[in-house]
Amino acid sequence: MAKKMETEEVKKLKEELLVNRKNGYFQIPDEKVKKADDFCEDYKKFLNQGKTEREVVRYAVKSAEEAGFVPFDPAKKYNAGDKVYYNNRGRAIILAVIGKNGCKNGVRIAAAHIDSPRLDLKPHPLYEKDDIAWLKTHYYGGIKKYQWTAIPLSMHGRAVLKNGTKVDIRLGEEEGEPQFCVTDLLPHLAAEQMEKKLSKAIEGENLNITVGSWPVRADDGDNLVKLNIMKLLHDKYGMTEEDFVSADIEFVPAFKASDIGFDHSMIGAYGHDDRVCAYPALMAALHAGTPESTVVTVLADKEEVGSDGNTGLNSQFMHYFIADLARAEGMEPSHVLQQSKCLSADVTAAFDPNYASAYEAINSCYINNGVGMAKYTGARGKSGSSEASAEFVAEIRNIFEQNDVLWQIGELGKVDAGGGGTVAMFIANLDVDVLDVGVPVLSMHSPFEVVSKLDVYMTYLGIKAFYEAK
Ligand code: MN
Ligand code: MN
Repeated sequence: MAKKMETEEVKKLKEELLVNRKNGYFQIPDEKVKKADDFCEDYKKFLNQGKTEREVVRYAVKSAEEAGFVPFDPAKKYNAGDKVYYNNRGRAIILAVIGKNGCKNGVRIAAAHIDSPRLDLKPHPLYEKDDIAWLKTHYYGGIKKYQWTAIPLSMHGRAVLKNGTKVDIRLGEEEGEPQFCVTDLLPHLAAEQMEKKLSKAIEGENLNITVGSWPVRADDGDNLVKLNIMKLLHDKYGMTEEDFVSADIEFVPAFKASDIGFDHSMIGAYGHDDRVCAYPALMAALHAGTPESTVVTVLADKEEVGSDGNTGLNSQFMHYFIADLARAEGMEPSHVLQQSKCLSADVTAAFDPNYASAYEAINSCYINNGVGMAKYTGARGKSGSSEASAEFVAEIRNIFEQNDVLWQIGELGKVDAGGGGTVAMFIANLDVDVLDVGVPVLSMHSPFEVVSKLDVYMTYLGIKAFYEAK
């Protein structure tokens, strides 16, 4: 029979051998909690200013230029400490800080995405029905449609008029500006609707946005409400109805980012996925100093629709950028890529006890337990995922440990519950080592997602430590 252990011995052995999963808050000193809080005050301002990919790129360009970044010139030779950015069509951006060793040992990449689920306008959106003017929408990304009714929406985007004039649109965010909404049926009359499946209760073709109800004053004529709305749009933006065909107009939730909880420990906002990783990645780039290896921060578009398109990471824009860096130093792009390392910074699901049955509690990420790693994403038998190697997970884990970055690792829900992907596989397919890391989110893809401030800050510290690693 084995020797009976003393209580103290058991405690010691547990500490040595078992994973300790205490709430992360207990592992963070008060000064660091305060730093997380300050970091998140600026993050909330960023969220309120950057509600679309175009607005985030504008924010990134402005803050990068203030930090000394200049537009990238592929014909130029750069030196250690030089800071450059490449604005890809106003919808995606790459920032690079040239390292002491340049690309010689590969580059360090952090990639996040800046598009979020929303309601886009169709090419012919405006119509009048029963004396109300409406805009027809086509949703973008994975949404639960019922969540988009009866909430205030704001209008964002860009119209390019017939004469070529570019008009930037942002309406419904400032005090006193009008907002918009998708209506829903009153419960009194919803007996039939309430019997439907959640996926059928609100259909895509019913996500029509109400935009006005007053006609032009006239004795007769049809479509007078529609005409009045078009007249107002013309007065404000110079648009005619046909100009909708060459416009990227997105409707997003109009509410502002706000602290959640009596203790102010969380932030509720639209678009945490994935601006909650894009902002820490951007800040890590701006604060990069002169790293050992060149660091490359990518804020990409189109992730929510599969990363296809020339502003998404399933295109070659990042590959070409790194190839330019490589050639400027006389290196083969493929030799740089194969030595490069990447954190694919995207959100993960936070365990929600209200929906516990969708998660596997032992392998979930939790609010306040730090930046969440995912060794693989995908669905079913790890389909549609690039799994990080044991070696690369170990390397990142050690960097986090050495720099007091609180981290956790988990899967996105139960094995057979569904799944999801990130940009990781597109970068891994370029022969780069990639690991998914990011902030755990409650109510992901809803109009009002929730994250923990500690986790946001830890994601920043994690990316920063990765950039500074030798
Ligand atoms: Mn995402
Ligand atoms: Mn997403």
